[in-house]
Amino acid sequence: MSLPHPPSCDRPGLVIVDHPLVQHKLSLMRDRTTPTAEFRRLLREISLLLAYEATRDLPLGSVEIETPLERGNFPLLAGKKVCLVSILRAGNGILDGMLDLLPSARVGHIGIYRDPRTLQAVEYYLKLPEDLPERDVILVDPMLATGNSAVAAISRLSELSARRVKFVCLVAAPEGVDNVLGIFPQVSIFAASLDRCLDPSGYILPGLGDAGDRLFGTK
Ligand code: URA
Repeated sequence: MSLPHPPSCDRPGLVIVDHPLVQHKLSLMRDRTTPTAEFRRLLREISLLLAYEATRDLPLGSVEIETPLERGNFPLLAGKKVCLVSILRAGNGILDGMLDLLPSARVGHIGIYRDPRTLQAVEYYLKLPEDLPERDVILVDPMLATGNSAVAAISRLSELSARRVKFVCLVAAPEGVDNVLGIFPQVSIFAASLDRCLDPSGYILPGLGDAGDRLFGTK
């Protein structure tokens, strides 16, 4: 079966995670009848799989370990530290699944809301680990729509000297991807889907609706 939207595209810097489990779970999340508890569970599961892809290039070192039978050198993460940064509030839905895979990661939060009139990003909260400059950042938000929130968050992280920044989302719109990569070509974006476009209110089509409302059951 061919997917309704291309699972990959020619935008350098954008990685579409087209694993069948990710695509299956995302389709269930798109369904308007999927209840909140199920939506939350699916987001946690997909987030773990997205984290798996986004950490594929973590460097490995070698350590000597004694197995029950003999000594040998074996791969271990080379101590590169990761900080997960959630764009509030929907980004928090991605944290749990990622922390299942990266239990030692530090976590930061950036509160940004979209002014519904201008669709511009307004920052209202910021709490990040003090050693941010020593960490690689995985910035998370389920929906990359206009990209204005992502650009504001990445600008703030850059100001604070974060090392490398990767952006992980569930659904991206071409407008948002172009906005982020146009300003920050060094950033990698990982998404489960690149959808068609934005509607006049800045919602992604076909999308899955308001991720925050669906995650927290607020509508
Ligand atoms: N934020 C959402 O939650 N959904 C969209 O479609 C766009 C932005």
